[in-house]
Amino acid sequence: MKKFNYHSIKDTKEASKLSSANSIFLAGGMTVIPSIKLGLGSYKDVIDIKEIKKLSGIKVSGKIVKIGATTKHAEVASSKDVKKAIPSLAKLAGGIGDPQVRNRGTIGGSIANNDPSADYPAACIALNATINTNNNRKINAENFFRGMFETCLKKGELIESIDFEIPQKSDYQKLKNPASRYAVVGVYVAKHKSGTIVGVTGAKSCVYNEKSLSDKLSKNFSSNSIDSTEISPSEMNSDIHASAEYRANMVKALAIKAVDAC
Ligand SMILES: Cc1cc2nc3c(=O)[nH]c(=O)nc-3n(C[C@H](O)[C@H](O)[C@H](O)COP(=O)(O)OP(=O)(O)OC[C@H]3O[C@@H](n4cnc5c(N)ncnc54)[C@H](O)[C@@H]3O)c2cc1C
Repeated sequence: MKKFNYHSIKDTKEASKLSSANSIFLAGGMTVIPSIKLGLGSYKDVIDIKEIKKLSGIKVSGKIVKIGATTKHAEVASSKDVKKAIPSLAKLAGGIGDPQVRNRGTIGGSIANNDPSADYPAACIALNATINTNNNRKINAENFFRGMFETCLKKGELIESIDFEIPQKSDYQKLKNPASRYAVVGVYVAKHKSGTIVGVTGAKSCVYNEKSLSDKLSKNFSSNSIDSTEISPSEMNSDIHASAEYRANMVKALAIKAVDAC
């Protein structure tokens, strides 16, 4: 492993001061540590944000569940407040990786990393999430996720928390990679007063809103209404786990399963 300076910091101002073109934030380290060890990333400064108190915790107020960026997946999965307000979000967190990953990995790290197969990005899209940063930006999820491992975060910009809109009904279904538990395809369906949003992960190079399903479910929230929808495989991933055609079929099949489970 290459040498680097390790900084454990206590507030977000220090994070901004220390960050540079050659630094990286460290949350749970579930992605950062293996990338440094494998030589995929090399940094002068590693800025550990775990001790910044205000970045951790869960708060429900009105129609919003606010989750601090360094909150671990296991905390979301076991939170009574999340289970009551958005049970599907607790279920999603409880299905990430294995107990070790869930006890180290963080929601902010997952979202900032934007792995094309990660679970939380699908929840962010379906639950109309707002990503709050230390630059006082409030970014809607649809604008936040830009492409494979790419978001609209600027260099040195820190996610502080994520606001999820509490839906009327919701469910998350995924076809798991049997080794990592990442989503080969994951579909999050959320019915809001204003309409239904279907967030899809694992199928394309970046999470997205499957509008053909969202529009139909907004008019008629029943699995019958999407049963005959054709999902195009044209931009879908194709690999040893599933072909593009298989993934396209799974998007519809999992959406039907999620609607029926709501
Ligand atoms: C074996 C294994 C299995 C996994 N299975 C799944 C799975 O089934 N589903 C799934 O969704 N994920 C899965 N993951 C991913 C995991 O859940 C973590 O969320 C992910 O690896 C990010 O890790 P982390 O939170 O520890 O962040 P880190 O590794 O510390 O950071 C990741 C990236 O995010 C940046 N970052 C971290 N926090 C912030 C912040 N607050 N603001 C701005 N940037 C920030 C870091 O600088 C870095 O670039 C798996 C990981 C492993 C190792």
